[in-house]
Amino acid sequence: MPFRVGLGQDSHRFSHVHEKRPLMLGGVKIIGYLGLKGNSDADVILHSLFNALAQVIGWKSLGSHADKMCKEDGITDSKEYLKEPLKRLKAMDYEITTVGITIECKEPKIDPVSDEIRKSVAEILEIEPEQVGIIATSGEKLTPFGRGEGIQVFSVVTAIHKNIRRITEKKSKKK
Ligand SMILES: [Zn+2]
Repeated sequence: MPFRVGLGQDSHRFSHVHEKRPLMLGGVKIIGYLGLKGNSDADVILHSLFNALAQVIGWKSLGSHADKMCKEDGITDSKEYLKEPLKRLKAMDYEITTVGITIECKEPKIDPVSDEIRKSVAEILEIEPEQVGIIATSGEKLTPFGRGEGIQVFSVVTAIHKNIRRITEKKSKKK
């Protein structure tokens, strides 16, 4: 299978004011906003990326992998959850070609921080920022996310098998 695609989703509710957790998006601490509820750092972007990556490599969803790391090993940094599926993807001889992230929320405003998030996500996935696209919508307040109760993220990851380059090269030589 030369090409693979994974679609991941995740959503979290904002935590209460007194909990004072930082808002983490794609490994970036977003200043001035409430954090999200969750056992881990509740990085909703990284969780949706995990689920997309898990689809690409034929894994199960985040819970089955991260719950153990979180509850038993006390690992709450969502960046850590991505390491294993990324390693597995590479072991299968695939490389990530593009990453698309769609965020639905009322707050925070994503555009002012999207470049920083792209850079961070690229670093975590060991790709270039140019391979990461981020868009955001408030969805006209039609959902709890657009109304400001939480944040929802969909992510797409596309990957290519390393042999495909060699195959294409061979074919173009034959012509
Ligand atoms: Zn999550």
